Amino acid sequence: MQSITVLGSTGSIGVSTLDVIARHPDRYRIFALTAHRQIDKLLVQIRAHSPRIAVVGTAADAASLRATLRDEGLSTEVMSGPDALELVSSAVDVDTVMAAIVGAAGLRPTLAAARAGKRILLANKEALVMSGQVFMSAVREGGASLLPIDSEHNAIFQALPDHYARDPEVHGVNRILLTASGGPFRKFEPAALARVTPEQACNHPNWVMGRKISVDSATMMNKGLEVIEAHWLFGAPAEMIQVVVHPQSVIHSMVQYIDGSVVAQLGNPDMRTPIAHALAFPWRIESGVASLDLFSIAKLEFEPPDFDRFPCLALAYQALRSGGTAPAVLNAANEEAVSAFLDGQIDFLRIPRLIAAALEQIPASAVSSLDDVLAADLMAREFVTKQISA
Ligand code: NAD
Ligand code: MG
Repeated sequence: MQSITVLGSTGSIGVSTLDVIARHPDRYRIFALTAHRQIDKLLVQIRAHSPRIAVVGTAADAASLRATLRDEGLSTEVMSGPDALELVSSAVDVDTVMAAIVGAAGLRPTLAAARAGKRILLANKEALVMSGQVFMSAVREGGASLLPIDSEHNAIFQALPDHYARDPEVHGVNRILLTASGGPFRKFEPAALARVTPEQACNHPNWVMGRKISVDSATMMNKGLEVIEAHWLFGAPAEMIQVVVHPQSVIHSMVQYIDGSVVAQLGNPDMRTPIAHALAFPWRIESGVASLDLFSIAKLEFEPPDFDRFPCLALAYQALRSGGTAPAVLNAANEEAVSAFLDGQIDFLRIPRLIAAALEQIPASAVSSLDDVLAADLMAREFVTKQISA
């Protein structure tokens, strides 16, 4: 029986995770569920999964949830705040942590899981992007294992040999082919992009996801973050990671080897496949996802990415090549810009401009500790907020 903490259980990945877990009550038991604000949704999940602990954002929400649970005779303990998130990620009774909080808020609890040597199912790409070096050393030193949930990285993981040593050359890998749907605006002209609304940006053609990652998919920053994520997960330099636009989202990514082989993973675009894969690895379990029907898909297309229409992708490569604190600046500037776009404060095309300005204004410096990362993160957020209110 695996004991699991789901960080961000009320989000899109959290809900899919609980859906897979509910299909296998003999294999998995929930230790803790966490939610930031959606307390009613969390309550429904508590009733269904009876976790030992539930964590919410504020003490006030914790108090009211505690009262409700007491009235219903449920014994789940309720805690609140960032320290509680770290506690449920590192507790001795936890085997596996699903890291599915969105953005930089997920960094500390995910790091705590790494240091405590947990099996980490990593959806929260922002944590890895901002602190790659620190995070990967915490995983190594803590003896944790890292299983990618992001569909592309999960596909790459499946296409790589067993016991892959985070060194492409050793295994004869010459390229990682990271597929991208191209998002809802793949064919939009730049002038039309200036007028797109948050609702249009969140209306992804193939995937249903949280709002932040949906906007990232629309700017293609999501793919940029994934290039950096692939760099850290698989030890591949920027020039070895090639983005391939593949509008059908059926091939989730590929690995090209020196002998001419290209190994791909295919499936319907449903996150329950990578979640089930990582939960059960190295075994396989049912996920609830329908089998792929190749005849109804009939056609798979590929095209190179358009770096002019989607400058965020180029900015991410630039940050990866600069190294040090640059990816943390990129990520923080993006989070602030996306949140301002979702709030209607800025237009869509201003997102890349703000990120470019932040990368220019805050030069990359070396990272020797988490504090260096957090300082860069804060500087970038302050810079972007000031630009927006100026
Ligand atoms: P979401 O917005 O649907 O859910 C986010 C979750 O994080 C919620 O449970 C929320 O309560 C919690 N949360 C938000 N802010 C928090 C804070 N400050 N403190 C504590 N908890 C907080 O997001 P999502 O789409 O599920 O994405 C989650 C992560 O998975 C992201 O990093 C995203 O990039 C990654 N991811 C998502 C998908 C997808 O299909 N949705 C695919 C690949 C990767
Ligand atoms: Mg992805």
